[in-house]
Amino acid sequence: MPELPEVETTRKLIAPLLEGRTILGFEYDPSPRYSALEDTIGLTVSTLSRRGKYILIGFEDSDLELIVHLGMTGGFRPTPDKHTRVTVHTGLGHTDYSDVFFTDSRRFGKWRTVRRGEYAEMPTLHAMGPEPLSEDFVLEDFVEAASKAGTVKPWLLSQKPVAGLGNIYADESLHLSGIHPESRKLSRAQSVRLFEAIKQVLAKAVHAGGSTLNDGSYQQPDGNPGYFQLEHRAYGREDQPCLTCGEPIYKYWLGGRGTHVCAKCQPLERS
Ligand SMILES: [Zn+2]
Repeated sequence: MPELPEVETTRKLIAPLLEGRTILGFEYDPSPRYSALEDTIGLTVSTLSRRGKYILIGFEDSDLELIVHLGMTGGFRPTPDKHTRVTVHTGLGHTDYSDVFFTDSRRFGKWRTVRRGEYAEMPTLHAMGPEPLSEDFVLEDFVEAASKAGTVKPWLLSQKPVAGLGNIYADESLHLSGIHPESRKLSRAQSVRLFEAIKQVLAKAVHAGGSTLNDGSYQQPDGNPGYFQLEHRAYGREDQPCLTCGEPIYKYWLGGRGTHVCAKCQPLERS
């Protein structure tokens, strides 16, 4: 599933294809997954921003916002393919027409037009924590919340302590900070390490264009893969030696999610 680095890479690459252009229409199969898209026809795109794993498309002279969630396999492509679900027709003035194609083989992606900032129908977005690569992500707030948290990995995945972490970057951040995914109520030292690891892992992953896994479902919108998978320390490395200590990484299921751990570097300290 695309996480913050993949969504941010997608946002950066499609922004030039949409910003300043007028929405002329959409083509898609009717589905509750695509809601009120037509409300934006005739509007001109002003900005593409991002919150967590959501792309937010803003418009000139309008308080509407088009929210795109990539789901498991959603992404933008320069040309249509057999899994194209939404085609956006755009124009610049009355001459320069072009299309943007949203592909999504497993159909978990969602598009919805809302009043800007009104996310009550999207609980995850509504309750989303601070952006980890912004000044809104404050160490003391994180330390305080982590000192009361339940099992740390599901807590991170909830999007409440921090926005944008999914399975890959939760495993990577926990490995880098030497914290077992089932740790609870983190100590101050643990929280400080985890806070720094989250920022470091996500910044590097954004720089690398995200992670393209073996299923190939995530590509950058220009058709290139991401490259951060080459820097993974835990995720997808089961039975391979830990890059820190040489012990084999093991994989198990925690809360229904494949979880990758080094037993030596990430001891479970019950508190
Ligand atoms: Zn290790």
